[in-house]
Amino acid sequence: MVLTLKAAAAAKSTPGSSSPEVTDAVAGIISDIRSRGDAAVREYSARFDRWEPESFRLTAEEIEEIVARVPEQVLEDIRFVQRQVRAFAERQLASLSEFEMETLPGVSLGQKHIPVAAAGAYVPGGRYPLLASAHMTIVTAKTAGVPRVVACTPPIRGEVPDATVAAMHLAGADEIHLLGGVQAITAMALGTESISKVDLLAGPGNAYVAEAKRQLFGEVGIDLFAGPTETLVVADEHADPFIAAVDLLSQAEHGPDSPAVLITTSERIGREVIAHIEEILPDLPTRDLAGPAWRDHGEVHVVDDLDAAYALADSYASEHVQILTAEPRKALDAMRNFGALFLGEGTCVSYGDKVIGTNHVLPTRGAARYTGGLWVGKYLKTVTYQQVTDPASSARLGEVCGRAARTELFEGHARSGDVRAAKYAGAPLAW
Ligand code: NAD
Repeated sequence: MVLTLKAAAAAKSTPGSSSPEVTDAVAGIISDIRSRGDAAVREYSARFDRWEPESFRLTAEEIEEIVARVPEQVLEDIRFVQRQVRAFAERQLASLSEFEMETLPGVSLGQKHIPVAAAGAYVPGGRYPLLASAHMTIVTAKTAGVPRVVACTPPIRGEVPDATVAAMHLAGADEIHLLGGVQAITAMALGTESISKVDLLAGPGNAYVAEAKRQLFGEVGIDLFAGPTETLVVADEHADPFIAAVDLLSQAEHGPDSPAVLITTSERIGREVIAHIEEILPDLPTRDLAGPAWRDHGEVHVVDDLDAAYALADSYASEHVQILTAEPRKALDAMRNFGALFLGEGTCVSYGDKVIGTNHVLPTRGAARYTGGLWVGKYLKTVTYQQVTDPASSARLGEVCGRAARTELFEGHARSGDVRAAKYAGAPLAW
């Protein structure tokens, strides 16, 4: 049984999709940039970001000047977090195996990983200078071995986001463009006169950015559908309701479209969390974003036991799931659908967002049902190859190939097998 103490005021979004208004607006911008290139990019940047410099790309001298303006402590913190992110990405890379195996004498089948030649890294910046996304997208791409990383971020309220540019530069971006939104995503995906196109786009963003990636997928690879942030807390009666309240608001402040959900086995905890949120929200400097998010997309549900809590949480497939229970590691086995799991009170989603080293580019709107977040493997193509050095094995494969292909009515395929079977058996080649 589920007792709902607070329901969302707004309708839930459809999994994996954007609203029709966003879908149509994005389609229009993409089509315009496709036909008019840089001229259209410039107009949209002026319209949405009031930003139309001579060139969106920063020169090496400009980057140097910007980095010099950033306080040393900020640079030190950027380096610290990038070391964390790099260490985790390097371990992920090491976990990937390349191998060659023999299935028959002289028949070798192999697998290897090839980095894409060029990746686009989107670093959001509409509301906040989200420099942590530079670590997540660029450091990870470079760890994967991507030779060319193009990084885009919008100006923030008409200003250059100094710390974001510093983070992009320290992460190893090969090109930095001060360009945001659908225009940045489309320019990187399709290429324009001033930006040559990339093979894969990665990075989070608002509903417009996520929808642009979705619509351009196919012409360009994308990491995943990483739209507006979502958080879900599972709490039992041992949880600290104040911590739960603070953590729910910490994610609601991403934007008014960010869901924050509590699922608890304790009605007392549920009511106390709601009371704490009502008490502390007015003092949160970002209440204009967190307030509407909590009002429209905040939910609190009470369930009978933790198994029911995990099952309900799985049905949300939330981007972030935080476990505030007496035995948090049990959730690791019990749960199936989440972008990232935060186990116990000692960690929190903010650590994942900003400092801990796992990647914060994570699936939203139900995409956690079929994918995890950004990781080093998303920048790699896992390819296969094969070689047959033993003529007898090739003749054997050729015979089976001839029969298998004819079963599918593929006569041309069958004959590729036939000629090898004949040649390696010493028989004359016939057509
Ligand atoms: P953003 O950079 O994603 O978007 C800003 C851009 O949106 C602007 O440059 C502008 O061009 C464009 N835009 C604004 N209004 C528009 C309109 N009406 N039509 C077309 N384009 C428009 O920055 P943001 O807005 O601050 O959003 C960042 C988002 O990233 C948040 O929703 C946050 O929750 C999300 N996020 C997601 C993850 C994840 O992994 N899923 C991680 C971090 C952040």
